[in-house]
Amino acid sequence: MSRSAHPAGPRHADVLTDGHYSAPPADLNALDPKVWAHTVGRDADGAVTVGGIPVTRLAEEYGTPAYILDETDFRERARAWRTAFGADADVFYAGKAFLSRAVVRWLDEEGLNLDVCSGGELATALSAGMPAERIAFHGNNKSPEEIERAVAAGVGRIVLDSFQEIVRVAHTAEALGKRQRVQIRITVGVEAHTHEFIATAHEDQKFGIPLAGGQAAEAVRRALRLDGIELIGIHSHIGSQIFDMSGFEVAAHRVVGLLKDVRDEHGVELPEIDLGGGLGIAYTSDDDPREPHEIAKALTEIVTRECESARLRTPRISVEPGRAIVGPTAFTLYEVGTVKPLDGLRTYVSVDGGMSDNIRTALYDAEYSVALVSRTSDAEPMLARVVGKHCESGDIVVKDAFLPGDLAPGDLIAVPATGAYCRSMASNYNHVLRPPVVAVRDGEARVIVRRETEEDLLRLDVG
Ligand SMILES: *Cc1c(COP(=O)(O)O)cnc(C)c1O
Repeated sequence: MSRSAHPAGPRHADVLTDGHYSAPPADLNALDPKVWAHTVGRDADGAVTVGGIPVTRLAEEYGTPAYILDETDFRERARAWRTAFGADADVFYAGKAFLSRAVVRWLDEEGLNLDVCSGGELATALSAGMPAERIAFHGNNKSPEEIERAVAAGVGRIVLDSFQEIVRVAHTAEALGKRQRVQIRITVGVEAHTHEFIATAHEDQKFGIPLAGGQAAEAVRRALRLDGIELIGIHSHIGSQIFDMSGFEVAAHRVVGLLKDVRDEHGVELPEIDLGGGLGIAYTSDDDPREPHEIAKALTEIVTRECESARLRTPRISVEPGRAIVGPTAFTLYEVGTVKPLDGLRTYVSVDGGMSDNIRTALYDAEYSVALVSRTSDAEPMLARVVGKHCESGDIVVKDAFLPGDLAPGDLIAVPATGAYCRSMASNYNHVLRPPVVAVRDGEARVIVRRETEEDLLRLDVG
């Protein structure tokens, strides 16, 4: 099929499905550095390169779809968080965003700590040599086996999420002849997402012990009585993809309020406070995330101010960014399979992956950008929707985007900012094989998570 043989659909359509209007970007070949990994550019032929390697070569060598991860960018972002918070604070990378043994080694080398929330994540971390004392174990329903493994391995902290768990961890530690360091996760009645936060009624969720009604204070009371655990602090995580710092401000105020009550009641000043993760990244050019040093400054100031007014020693702060470190460092590389213009509506562009490698659009109505990356094009922009190959009409990767009107089967397109919560949430729906993660750095590429095979699928199916 020739590149211009099909009608391109509504070329200047500017009404997007969700009712807002958007004009096509001035230059479809431009790559907004806000949404693309640091080393992304275009070579003389117009192909996008990352880590010095053209995506056309990556597609040839590793196939599509594939997650292409810029290791240099990952390390730079990890280091920026570490440097921003300095020696008096700890940065825990939230492993659930994306975890592999290579990533664990990079984190270890860059001086970050690691959050895990399952036996599988713990096993990955330990097998890659992350020192156990730099691992925090999370989760609202850790199994007795998981607790035992974590305590036996000597994880630095377990974040307790319920009254039952306070007792479970204490008893497990005692049985193993250990004293486990723990934090208590509380809910402060703040929920933050993107540009807003809501400061009422968000204790109605499965995570944490509510501050309201004195439950968190009661949890502290019980934890302080048990020999198997050492309560080192209070934990709060208020949401995800947050740009607005005011939710953290209210959360810090309330956590410090609890620390003050604990001091007044027990004469104990808990030495640590963890403010969780949730810091936002740019998925499209409309998003304006803050730099780690701005976030560190804001959070440190908030906690210091609150502690001064409560006459408490400022506790050691920790944070847990996942998305903000790995999210922008990877893009998903797809090959276009079909291009289907629907008159007066938009053009459906089908790729060789979909909701099995990126569930976020279907699950959260997430917004993404997309670009033609195997070449440049001067064709008119067309309003497109990038969809996958699954048997599900909600199988949408990018809901609304402009792509060049001459887009054709065989072209490579890429969706940036898919480093977080894409491979880690990937499924085998329709028995589609999960894509590999290919890390690139200084002109070299290597597979850090290989592509799934039909053999892998059939191995689990024991007949
Ligand atoms: C999910 C989660 C994080 C990481 O969230 P991001 O949005 O990826 O930064 C950190 N801490 C806890 C407790 C979490 O559940």
